[in-house]
Amino acid sequence: MGLFTRRKTVFVDSDILVVGGGMSGCGATYESRYWGRDLKIVCVEKANIERSGAVAQGLYAINCYMGMQWDENQPEDHVRYARNDLMGLVREDLGYDIARHVDSTVHKFEEWGLPIMRDPDTGRYQREGKWQIMIHGESYKPIVAEAARKAATEVYNRIMVTHLLMDQKRPNRVAGAVGFNVRTGDFYVFRAKAVIVAAGGASHIFKPRAVGEGMGRTWYAPWSSASAYALPILAGAKMTQMENRIVLTRFKDGYGPVGAYFLHLKTYTENAYGQDYEAFWRDSIEEMVGDYVNHHPVPTCLRNHALLEEVKAGRGPIRMVTKEAFQDPHKETVGWENFLGMTIGQAVVWASQNIDPKEINPELTTSEPYVMGSHATCSGAWASGPEDYAPAEYQWGYNRMMTVEGLFGGGDAIGGTAHKFSSGSFTEGRIAGKAAVKYVNDLGNDAPQVSEAEYEDLRKAIYQPMENYEIGRNEIVGGTVSPSYLLPLHGLQRLEKIMDEYVGGISAHYTTNEPLLTRGLELLTMLKEDLAHLGAEDLHQLQRAWELHHRVLASESVAQHTMFRQETRWPGYYYRADHPKLDDQDWHCFTLSRYDRESGKWEMEKAPVYHIVD
Ligand SMILES: Cc1cc2nc3c(=O)[nH]c(=O)nc-3n(C[C@H](O)[C@H](O)[C@H](O)COP(=O)(O)OP(=O)(O)OC[C@H]3O[C@@H](n4cnc5c(N)ncnc54)[C@H](O)[C@@H]3O)c2cc1C
Repeated sequence: MGLFTRRKTVFVDSDILVVGGGMSGCGATYESRYWGRDLKIVCVEKANIERSGAVAQGLYAINCYMGMQWDENQPEDHVRYARNDLMGLVREDLGYDIARHVDSTVHKFEEWGLPIMRDPDTGRYQREGKWQIMIHGESYKPIVAEAARKAATEVYNRIMVTHLLMDQKRPNRVAGAVGFNVRTGDFYVFRAKAVIVAAGGASHIFKPRAVGEGMGRTWYAPWSSASAYALPILAGAKMTQMENRIVLTRFKDGYGPVGAYFLHLKTYTENAYGQDYEAFWRDSIEEMVGDYVNHHPVPTCLRNHALLEEVKAGRGPIRMVTKEAFQDPHKETVGWENFLGMTIGQAVVWASQNIDPKEINPELTTSEPYVMGSHATCSGAWASGPEDYAPAEYQWGYNRMMTVEGLFGGGDAIGGTAHKFSSGSFTEGRIAGKAAVKYVNDLGNDAPQVSEAEYEDLRKAIYQPMENYEIGRNEIVGGTVSPSYLLPLHGLQRLEKIMDEYVGGISAHYTTNEPLLTRGLELLTMLKEDLAHLGAEDLHQLQRAWELHHRVLASESVAQHTMFRQETRWPGYYYRADHPKLDDQDWHCFTLSRYDRESGKWEMEKAPVYHIVD
């Protein structure tokens, strides 16, 4: 037991605890302070908020800006756009709520020093597309983090949150969180009246295209480890649309973004024989999904589908035609700067593969699936909507509160609202922060109580992988392999293989069916059992161990939801081969799940989709 007693336990009390200091966590911290001047607001982050989360490396565009000051778009337009892209299924109340506030967020970013490009003729923000504005965004995250740092009572960096704590008296009420410092190993008990989960989405749950020495090279940040899902799932929160994983068409091998290329540089795609292939697949797509293929813009998943079918038909590779646009020196500069501001790796890959886009049209491919609630898909927690706009069925308390009392969320954590992106995630954090302040003020003296037994049990569980390693290393048979423990990397690879082969990853052409899912879930159950035997050599590996726990639970949720939805709603993201068509009759609805941590069972149900905007 030596390991347990060596570690200090640090208690931190707060009114509002924000878990994750990425875009929405920074928004939540900032806004909580605005409305809760006298409250204690704590932000806890597993990295350092200065450069953490999906925006760590910077961005070249803010993808969600209405431009209401110039009458460019209205919030209703954005709801229509997101609904169309998600094949009809979005929480329109939540999306509208973000869209009506997002412009003010962007104006704040500019005020705080973010350079936003301007159109020299109109003086307005330079548009990349209908919703995107262009920024010099290498320092986007530090600028946003500074606002959160100044607003927070305290920011705790380098602490991985592993579990939420529940109220002693009311089991469906949150009371805080626990975690450990990834540098010192100290154990942290955060006691809070309200908790806002803003811990990002999930990469590395499906096997990536790049394995071995390249395995860290994924489109989505490799450190996005599904905590935004696992933490609420373990606390009993209902989740929605977890089957709606995202697959991205990106430049091959470097996952470089294509948005600026399509929208600003006006490049286009062609097959290996120089043909435009998208129109070729229109009729067969219409057979699968009906009229959705005729909508404008064509939903992202359907464009993926056309690319995948074209490659399967043997007319790959698909290429982006850059040679024409890159003859214009301005466009050439924009093309390269686009990478240098957010995905430097793509420029390096092209250099290493002798690709100059002025001379060679680079290849495109589709990524492995990821789970996120803020980009072009909408997995996440089922949240209460805004009081003035949400239908009664979507309201059970405070805006952005999950189905667990006092537990709020923003960004990737909240389901049903795609196309929030960086600005919308910050905005949703702000909305959650404001609502959490109201919740805390309304609590009065009825504050939740943390049970000592609960956090002491968790303390033992959290450090167990180090104990396993300390004992098991005496049995190492070769290199780092021991028969008595499982290393986090091995567990991760096992997870990725199960998800890839059974739940619709790249090697299965994103295809699955009921028998595959049934077997996949059995294998995931066995993997979950084995997680009790994880071995962690040091604190870094301990973090990897808990990231794996979170990824496995989120993966199980993805598999359960994929099993439940008996249709193929988003061809190009995944296919249920046993239900190959979109079925609006039975499945124009949200899927909801609730996990019972005692029994390990999942309860599934449908929830109605209300179309509030015409
Ligand atoms: C590759 C890529 C490109 C993108 N491009 C654009 C773009 O061009 N324009 C645009 O507007 N948007 C873009 N986005 C979207 C934008 O980055 C996200 O919408 C936004 O970052 C989501 O905010 P979030 O707070 O939910 O997650 P994040 O910003 O990722 O923040 C999550 C935070 O939680 C922390 N965390 C995770 N787990 C734990 C834990 N257990 N304990 C403590 N802390 C934890 C993480 O370290 C991180 O800081 C892009 C996203 C990706 C992945």
